[in-house]
Amino acid sequence: MKTIRDLDLDNKTVIVRCDFNVPIKDGIVVDDTRVKAALPTINYLLSKNCKIILLSHLGRIKTEEDKTKYSLKPVHKCLSNLLNRKILFSSATSGTLLSDMVASLKNQDILLVENTRYEDLEGNKESGNDIKLASTWASMGDAFINDAFGTLHRAHASNVGLASLLPSGIGLLVEDELRHLELLDDPKRPYVVLLGGAKVVDKIGVIQQLVKKADHILIGGGMAFTFLKAKGLEVGKSLVDEGHLATCKKIMHDYPDKIILPEDVVVSTSMEDTSLAKTIAIDQFEKDEQGLDIGPKTVATFAPFLHEANTIVWNGPLGYFEKKPYDEGTKSVLNVLQTVSADVIIGGGDTVTAAKQFGFDNRNSYLSTGGGATLCYLEGKDLPGLTAIMKEGK
Ligand code: AMP
Repeated sequence: MKTIRDLDLDNKTVIVRCDFNVPIKDGIVVDDTRVKAALPTINYLLSKNCKIILLSHLGRIKTEEDKTKYSLKPVHKCLSNLLNRKILFSSATSGTLLSDMVASLKNQDILLVENTRYEDLEGNKESGNDIKLASTWASMGDAFINDAFGTLHRAHASNVGLASLLPSGIGLLVEDELRHLELLDDPKRPYVVLLGGAKVVDKIGVIQQLVKKADHILIGGGMAFTFLKAKGLEVGKSLVDEGHLATCKKIMHDYPDKIILPEDVVVSTSMEDTSLAKTIAIDQFEKDEQGLDIGPKTVATFAPFLHEANTIVWNGPLGYFEKKPYDEGTKSVLNVLQTVSADVIIGGGDTVTAAKQFGFDNRNSYLSTGGGATLCYLEGKDLPGLTAIMKEGK
């Protein structure tokens, strides 16, 4: 794989695809993990005396109103503070305003371009990998670096398109992420996977692959209820993916000892009124109750698997952790993970946010910036952003 170090970039104008798809509240970046993760590549290019053009998407742009909601201006401020230097900002994503700014760049200038998905409003150009748009961007630089690990599973004009048109390589963040994920190709055993989050549909393919490879898969979060219902249990109003009941049933039938499900859960008849929250055994569900977290017995069941493991991968919070008391399950499992000796890889925006929020800092852990990209890697799927660099990078 060609990396940033394999290209002759001295004094060149380099376009870098970053992943600045970060949570923003009231105009402020609330978790700057992904912005910080881009710094090694930016600093490397500064040391090579480059002119640096940064591209990223943020959220989804379907209407004019989305543009205000998903502007990269808060990221501009965050990045300026982190680098402690002036960063230029182009509010245009194409056209003369942008090309004029690029033309006046000096060495070691950094220009952040507004959300590339603004280009989706007319004809889905960014997300649809429009080659004309990619050519416009390619004409701005001499080389392209893809450092957006979290977007590797997408084929956008700003990653796949650019890699097909310019000498290209991966950035230092992508290199680091891949180094950690490659450990999972031949994991130290026991290899335990912890899965949570809301949607079975996003992770069913990963479960089908990982169940063959991992020693155990511990399932919590909203997705556990599809498995529990598939086992024939009442799960009240909990999240259930009816379309995947049969698949879940088959997985449990084929690998009866590998899938470990919750034994107790925290339920409520109202998501808002937390005074109604109570812990029940898994076979005690009432029809009007929704499962919102794993209970303490389940944490106690999961703990020995985690202690015995030598490799742990975790994706997806184990409950509706944004609201107390449904954060307890996720918090308790993080406390267990704090004391394990295994290599721990945590992926997915929400899971990493939870880990940081609850002060997790196990030395053997790696917090990945990728959610969907990590899952695609684990599923053995092609990552178009990488393939483009392998095939087309010149
Ligand atoms: P995902 O993107 O699939 O990893 O889902 C993350 C989201 O799942 C977070 O916002 C969690 O609050 C939510 N979540 C986890 N467990 C539950 C649950 N039992 N019920 C509802 N939402 C949940």
